[in-house]
Amino acid sequence: MESLAKPIKKIVDWATSFSLWPVHLMTACCGCELAVTYAPRLDTERLGSLPFTHARNTNTVIIEGAVTKKMARALKVTYEQMPHPKFVIGMGACAIDGGLFYNSYNLVKPWKVVPINNYIPGCPPRPEALTQAVYALQKEIREKELASYKFLGFLSRRGKKEKESS
Ligand code: SF4
Repeated sequence: MESLAKPIKKIVDWATSFSLWPVHLMTACCGCELAVTYAPRLDTERLGSLPFTHARNTNTVIIEGAVTKKMARALKVTYEQMPHPKFVIGMGACAIDGGLFYNSYNLVKPWKVVPINNYIPGCPPRPEALTQAVYALQKEIREKELASYKFLGFLSRRGKKEKESS
């Protein structure tokens, strides 16, 4: 089994990196750039990244700019409904530190709500920058084994629990 672990991990990470499915969750005006990213000109679907409607069918959240207190709750609920392994991209200056709305009373820093894998600077970031962020996340998943780490870790914990209960 030990000898199989390495190739299985590689396959899990490779397959997950080409199956990044962002959930539809528009938090602010960066959402327009996201729409262009997945439109025919850039066609980010060719990288295996395809937006889906339901959180339970997805594994990626793209935070589109500012997150208000009201939307922070929706972001948290959506993130928690997604199965592991899951990833988050913070898009725009607002997602990094408030951007235009820095220190505004109604904003929440997104990294306080969900863990963020990578950020895209700019206001708004261009669609090409979002495509680049998807590339970067794919590379990170393969190099740091982000998917197999969660997946195989979950299986071994489950196996351990079953062993203990029997
Ligand atoms: S970064 Fe700019 S475009 Fe994006 S949500 Fe903030 S203000 Fe809007």
